[in-house]
Amino acid sequence: MADAEDDEKEPEGPIPCSPCRGTGKLNSNAGGEPQEVDCPWCEGSGVFIEEHDAQAARRPEGEAADEKPQPAVD
Ligand SMILES: [Zn+2]
Repeated sequence: MADAEDDEKEPEGPIPCSPCRGTGKLNSNAGGEPQEVDCPWCEGSGVFIEEHDAQAARRPEGEAADEKPQPAVD
């Protein structure tokens, strides 16, 4: 029992943004000069935003549920 860290599960929490590696900044070479810009993926926060593009891919169903005309019960 020497390797206890092998089975260590990752704690749920803020996931570091991959493109900027959690720094929130990206090096842009636009214009020929490297400069730091805010990472568009995490908006400069450095934390992976799950809903950032998930909203674009998924649409909440049920929002526009067709209202069926209720039969007149009388
Ligand atoms: Zn980022």
